[in-house]
Amino acid sequence: LVPRYGAGKLFSVQGAIELRIIALWLALLAASGFSSGEAAAQESGKALLHQIATMWALKRGAYDGVTTFKDLRKHGDFGIGTVDGLDGEMVALDGHFYQVKTDGKAYRIDDAATTPFAMVVRFKVAKRGALDRPHDMKAFMAELDRMVPIEDRPVAFRVEGDFSALKVRSVPKQTKPYPDLATALKNQTVFELEHVKATLVGFRFPESMEGVNTAGYHFHCLTEDRTKGGHVLDFDAKNAQVDALPCSDFFLRLPSSPQ
Ligand SMILES: [Zn+2]
Repeated sequence: LVPRYGAGKLFSVQGAIELRIIALWLALLAASGFSSGEAAAQESGKALLHQIATMWALKRGAYDGVTTFKDLRKHGDFGIGTVDGLDGEMVALDGHFYQVKTDGKAYRIDDAATTPFAMVVRFKVAKRGALDRPHDMKAFMAELDRMVPIEDRPVAFRVEGDFSALKVRSVPKQTKPYPDLATALKNQTVFELEHVKATLVGFRFPESMEGVNTAGYHFHCLTEDRTKGGHVLDFDAKNAQVDALPCSDFFLRLPSSPQ
């Protein structure tokens, strides 16, 4: 199964484990568009988003872990993904890696555990804004689009806020032969948290990266006490601080053997 990409030649290196897409995207991080107008000091720094495997493969059931968390943590302290066997939702925050299982609880991930799909970055604040009034998820995303206008690059978002409602899910570990992702998600467990302080950890990917990842927003979350979380399905938030990091570079690690 070989995906067809525009940059097909880049994906044809036999046996190659790592593939580097040298971004031509020079970060021109204009500090406009934020309600607070506050720009952070590290605005000019580069940000390398490091991804393990493609969403294209994950959707087709490539759930075997291919990279250890010991290795993954070298490349970032902030991110999302899953664990070997599609065993729950992974959230990396402040250098700590958590696995939210189908009991809705967040567990620290052992360095020896592996991931089939993840993305991490060394998070720093390039843009900061505030959304104090209540927003539902759709309105919140629209505000994020206004704060960080859509460009042909991924953007990492960290959101701290008060959530009157926060609907999350996790998926159970799958057994072989692995079903595809849509089938696996039919067995997801959904939790509805109410009146919690939580952190959203996520990304917005551009249309051009559909397949490599998924275009649009993708958030996981952890409660303030770091005991619960999951993949975010819906929410109502207020008193939110939004930190954003547009990524200047993207590194994609492909599994060594074909699926
Ligand atoms: Zn997710």
